[in-house]
Amino acid sequence: MGFYVTVLGSGASMPTGHRCCSAQVVNIEGFKILIDAGEGVQNQIRRAHVKMQSIDTILISHLHGDHFFGLPGLISSMHLCGRTQPLDIYAPKGLDDVFEAIFRVSNTELNFQLNIHTITPDVSQPILANAKCRISSFPIYHSIETYGFLIEEQKKTSLSLKRDVCKKYNLAADDIARIKQGDDLVLPEGTIVPNANLTQQPKSPRKYAYCCDTSYNENLVPIIKGVDLLCFDTTFDSKNEELALSKGHGTTVQAATLAKQAEVSQLLLTHFSARFKDITPLVEEAQAIFPNTVAATDLSVIELQTL
Ligand SMILES: [Zn+2]
Ligand SMILES: [Zn+2]
Repeated sequence: MGFYVTVLGSGASMPTGHRCCSAQVVNIEGFKILIDAGEGVQNQIRRAHVKMQSIDTILISHLHGDHFFGLPGLISSMHLCGRTQPLDIYAPKGLDDVFEAIFRVSNTELNFQLNIHTITPDVSQPILANAKCRISSFPIYHSIETYGFLIEEQKKTSLSLKRDVCKKYNLAADDIARIKQGDDLVLPEGTIVPNANLTQQPKSPRKYAYCCDTSYNENLVPIIKGVDLLCFDTTFDSKNEELALSKGHGTTVQAATLAKQAEVSQLLLTHFSARFKDITPLVEEAQAIFPNTVAATDLSVIELQTL
C-alpha cells in the first residue's frame, strides 16, 4: 500500500473554472485523511473517485471559508448516505459553534458520532496516532489562527521480504513469519539460505507537511525538516512579496527557499491566486531555487516515494 496526496482544490480564496478551493485527501496505507474542505469538496471527492464514507478523519487548517465552507455539506451527505462510523474532526476553536448552529437551525440529528476536537492554540502538538500514521499540528503564520499538519508514516519494525523470495522458495506462512523475525531459511535438502539474502531492512517512514495558508517564516524549518513532500502556500509570485506578507500568504520564491532550507525531498505549490491564468512562470520561479518542485492541479495525485 502507498502514501498518496490527492489534490481536490488548488485555488486560493475563490473557486475558478479550473481550480476549486483548498482540499486534499491523504491516503496512507488505506487510512484516509481529508485536509481542509473548501466549497465544492463533495464534487471533487467524487471526481477523484474517493469513497466519501471511507474518509477516516478530517483536519481543518483554519476557519476562512475557502478551507471549510464545503464541510457542512459533506457531513450532511455522509449522514444522508447512512454513515454510522464515528468521525473525528480536528480544527481551530469555533468550528464546534458553527456546527452547533447548523444542527440547531436545520433540526438535524446525525446518524453518527461527530467528534470535533479543538486544536490547542499556539503550540506544536500530536493530535492523532494509530497503526498507520502519526499526525501533529503546528501554528503557522496567517491573518487568523491557522495550523499546519505533519503526517508521518508509522515506523515499520519488522524486516520485509525481498521481491520474488516467496515464489522462489515456495514459502509457507510460518516460514515467512520466522524469516521476518530474522531466521535463516533451511531448505528441505539441508541448504541454509542466510536471512540477509531473503530480507531487506524496514524503509524509513515517509513524512508529509501541509502549510497553507501561511507567510514564509524560518521557524517552520525545524518542524518540516527532511519531509518527503512539503505543500506550501504559493498564493503569489515573487513580485507580490509585500502583498503576500500583508495578507499572511507565501510566494513562489519563499516556498522554494523554505523547501531548500528544510532539505525536503519535493515541494508542492498550491493555493494559487485566481489572477494567475497560467502558472508556468510561478513554477519556474520556484524551480530556479528548488528544482524538485511541482504545482498542484485539481485531481492530481502525488505519491510519496519510498526511499
Ligand atoms: Zn485560503
Ligand atoms: Zn486563509
